[in-house]
Amino acid sequence: MQSKGYAVLEASKPLVPFTFSRRDLRPGDVALSVSYAGICHSDIHQAREEWGPALFPMVPGHEIAGIVTSVGSNVTKFKIGDRIGVGVFIDSCRECSSCKSGLEQYCLQGMTGTYNNYERDGKTLAQGGYADSFIVDQDYAASIPDNLDLAGVAPLLCAGITLFSPLKNWGAGPGKKVGVIGLGGLGHMGLKFSAALGAHTTVFSHSPSKEQDARKMGANDFVVTSNPKELSKLDRDFDLILNTVSADMDLTPYLQLLKLDGTLVLIGLPINPYTINTPVLLAQRRSISGSMIGGIKEVQEMLDFCGKHNIVSEVEVVDPEYINQAYERTISSDVKYRFVIDAKKF
Ligand code: NAP
Ligand code: ZN
Ligand code: ZN
Repeated sequence: MQSKGYAVLEASKPLVPFTFSRRDLRPGDVALSVSYAGICHSDIHQAREEWGPALFPMVPGHEIAGIVTSVGSNVTKFKIGDRIGVGVFIDSCRECSSCKSGLEQYCLQGMTGTYNNYERDGKTLAQGGYADSFIVDQDYAASIPDNLDLAGVAPLLCAGITLFSPLKNWGAGPGKKVGVIGLGGLGHMGLKFSAALGAHTTVFSHSPSKEQDARKMGANDFVVTSNPKELSKLDRDFDLILNTVSADMDLTPYLQLLKLDGTLVLIGLPINPYTINTPVLLAQRRSISGSMIGGIKEVQEMLDFCGKHNIVSEVEVVDPEYINQAYERTISSDVKYRFVIDAKKF
């Protein structure tokens, strides 16, 4: 199948229009016409080789919402016309304990990323969702509830699930105090989910201009982090803090805000490792953990939760020609709150 999209041909070069072929439909595959593709900060990290050597040409995009256009002979999960979503991975070994528990993102043999990755045949370069069409195995896609707008849904497939999963895992809900650091694509979804789950939610942001939006999205408190003194004035009573910041930063002031047994979950993936202040960690038996996206079962649970609570991402819909500018604006934290590409324009 021929696909038209945008690709990075060489590390850190601007994205350009790109035509390429996708694999033929296998019996378990569905083809979709992509409606919208979100721009995740991970796309930028990879396009610029900030996480190490990458594979080019690269069609980024792992926040894909679209409509099924054809199905393979063994497909039972979807039919033509269904609205489906694809996220950060398109395959996994299907046999290890993680895969068998619905935690494909932690596949012991490594998940197959939606792009910047070879498929499990070891030779087909996977290409992502900045394109007009996509092909995926039915087991690695999820159904989108009818009441949700597709543009706002696309970011749920990465930003949404990446925050939903740790909030559920660490039991965010009534009586719990949750902090979200960084009100970007991931952070604003964390805020919406934490508020919908009934937790008391504080946003930590280095952008004072985002306060009004944060409060509209359900924040109980908004703390401007450009002045570290503000942080030391706060009560040390957080159960859970989710760090979505994409840049290098000092974790210590946030660790200090955790109560006894509280957890700081690292979600953002900046280039350099963090320094851990051991005495602060020990002082209240605090934990630092990490969390990566979510499995297909949980993606479906998250989408159904969004359908029930009418939750979608706040998006700025842009044409493909705007992708390079969108990258620059994302890096300078100037997006409300996720860029989504209108894939009909490819
Ligand atoms: P994003 O939209 O760019 O949001 C990041 C936010 O971090 C910004 O909006 C900003 O929020 C804050 N920030 C950025 N630069 C900062 C700086 N220099 N100092 C302080 N705060 C800063 O990015 P995203 O798409 O949400 O992704 C965030 C990170 O998560 C990326 O590193 C991405 O690769 C990673 N990620 C991880 C997973 C996972 O599974 N763990 C999944 C997807 C993405 P304020 O303006 O509010 O301060
Ligand atoms: Zn992502
Ligand atoms: Zn596996």
